Amino acid sequence: MSAAEGMRRCIEDLRAALGDQNVLASGEDLARYQTAARYEDGKAAFVALPTTTAHVSAVVAICRRHAVTLVPQGANTGLVGAGVPDSSGEQGVLSLDRLNGPVAIDLENRSVRVAGGVRLSALNEELARFGLTFPIDLGADPSIGGMVATNTGGARFIRYGDVRRSVLGLEVVVADETGTILDLGSGLRKNNVGLDLKQLFIGTGGAFGVITRVDLEVQPLQRQSATALLAPRDRSTVMAVLLAAEAAFGSDLSSFEGMSGEALSCVFRHIPDTRNPFAPEPLPEYSVLVELSRSTAEPEAGERLKAGLHRFLEAQFEAGMIVNAVVDHPEALWKIRHSISDALREEGKVIGLDVSARRGDLEHFRADARVLVRREFPWLRVCDFGHCGDGGDHFNLVWPRLDAPPYDAATARLARTRLYELLVAKYDGSFSAEHGTGPSNGEYRSAFLGADRLDLEKRIGEALTHGRLLGRALG
Ligand SMILES: Cc1cc2nc3c(=O)[nH]c(=O)nc-3n(C[C@H](O)[C@H](O)[C@H](O)COP(=O)(O)OP(=O)(O)OC[C@H]3O[C@@H](n4cnc5c(N)ncnc54)[C@H](O)[C@@H]3O)c2cc1C
Repeated sequence: MSAAEGMRRCIEDLRAALGDQNVLASGEDLARYQTAARYEDGKAAFVALPTTTAHVSAVVAICRRHAVTLVPQGANTGLVGAGVPDSSGEQGVLSLDRLNGPVAIDLENRSVRVAGGVRLSALNEELARFGLTFPIDLGADPSIGGMVATNTGGARFIRYGDVRRSVLGLEVVVADETGTILDLGSGLRKNNVGLDLKQLFIGTGGAFGVITRVDLEVQPLQRQSATALLAPRDRSTVMAVLLAAEAAFGSDLSSFEGMSGEALSCVFRHIPDTRNPFAPEPLPEYSVLVELSRSTAEPEAGERLKAGLHRFLEAQFEAGMIVNAVVDHPEALWKIRHSISDALREEGKVIGLDVSARRGDLEHFRADARVLVRREFPWLRVCDFGHCGDGGDHFNLVWPRLDAPPYDAATARLARTRLYELLVAKYDGSFSAEHGTGPSNGEYRSAFLGADRLDLEKRIGEALTHGRLLGRALG
């Protein structure tokens, strides 16, 4: 049988199982399922849109029978190209878009049960009605299943951790021949009955199975906050200010987000209604967005947070740790922070590196990496920003449209490789901090992870899926 005939039969079986309306095939509008958030476009043979877990199981089993590679996809906001098919036209997309049933909130347990395709904004809209929130904060609106699959971090990691920390249970469809449906815990916070199997599906990009339902611990909504953008004196004082803030505010510290002056200047050039908050002073080389917040009902708590932040800033000025600060205007400051990714795309081609190091090493890496870029790729602009409170940095390089040689993928890859080598060899850092692995960074797994570890991963994958991983995250 020809490959084309095999694919035709696969699509026919999918239509029989899901109904014609839940399977899109070539000729129909597949664009949004093939176009990734950042450059990694592909070509889908079909898009399956299951509406139930049983449907998901059927899709996995049918594709397995026809030996068709299936790429799970949530909201398609991932930044490493793992949620879209490759360019062969021989892979199918399993979109969770229609697996988005009602959100079930358990107030006593302070947890929620949610289908894999539900968007973060929809979940939080529902939770807000009960004074609750799922506090992973980022500049995109992903699906909950995709957040679990990538183990999303975000701008409030310093207080709430990553998604993994909130997952109480999962329902998954395993990537085996029959699409086994597994119930891996529900709303229990304590449960030690054997291997914690749900961990295999968190942060592994859907390689071992499809996340169809998630039980999450949720948090009281922040009711009071105080926000400031501050300019550390130089790189050497960033960590000292962080440690002082942790000592002063304890668990009230909910964000400590660093942004380079280069990244911010792109925002002010391209994003309407944004401006340098330090004006008429020039933009500092680096600024940090600090947020304190509380969820208590005390009416004066907000004022107390603001007064505490003022006192802290004064003390940091006096100690020479910071040279400037603006307070209040939280919406404007967060808009600036969350607009950086869009602004960089306007500036040129973005080579995105999502890295992490021990917190004390991060500023040293940032400095060394800048020297490397200036020496070896002088036309590239370093526009980094990130979550310096948790050791994360989006060390983004922008290949400008003007005043630079024409973009060339091999040179971009070389720049990426050189920086990862520096990060891993000198700082023992991670080349994939929170966006997961996929076509844009997956090749470095074999370079950096070591044969023994990769071999064990492979054996676990084979045991789970009997030899055929889903998607493109670990393949
Ligand atoms: C502007 C912007 C800002 C961002 N900021 C951050 C940030 O601060 N922190 C951060 O961590 N990320 C950030 N991201 C990246 C992205 O939003 C996250 O990785 C997100 O969690 C991906 O979810 P998704 O539903 O879009 O997944 P997709 O992009 O659809 O898929 C991502 C991966 O998960 C797999 N997958 C998706 N759904 C499922 C499922 N139900 N079961 C199994 N596998 C599945 C896919 O195959 C793929 O490997 C940002 C993205 C953008 C565009």
